Amino acid sequence: MGIGTAIHCHTCGYTEEFHVRIGHMHTSLEEVMPRMPAKAKRILTEVINNQGCTELEHDNNLFGCQRCNTLHIRFYVRVEYDNGDVVETKHWCSKCKKRLVLSDRPINLYNCKKCGSQTLEMGSHFLGLRYNV
Ligand SMILES: [Zn+2]
Ligand SMILES: [Zn+2]
Repeated sequence: MGIGTAIHCHTCGYTEEFHVRIGHMHTSLEEVMPRMPAKAKRILTEVINNQGCTELEHDNNLFGCQRCNTLHIRFYVRVEYDNGDVVETKHWCSKCKKRLVLSDRPINLYNCKKCGSQTLEMGSHFLGLRYNV
């Protein structure tokens, strides 16, 4: 379960919708598996077969590109094992192909993928907006 929200550019009207989970609800792996990208499925299958997993995170997340400074929404899975090993999904920028890093800055510091302006906003009230533009 989750809520819908969207990224919206004030300047050009570019809108990208995505879903995030609310709080720390406990969903079983079997329940979320069908909705996951192939890459995430592979990691989670490994987790199910390995009882040493101590921490598991999976959700849509915001990623930033360190080269062209654009913001991307990607499905992120991170698993931490008892022995300290970490397995996580890796993503690359669709514009410049550089490895994306988890976003740690306010989204208005990133460039819009379409027009390049730093006028991105996020909120559920932008949902469906692109159909009205
Ligand atoms: Zn990039
Ligand atoms: Zn824009």
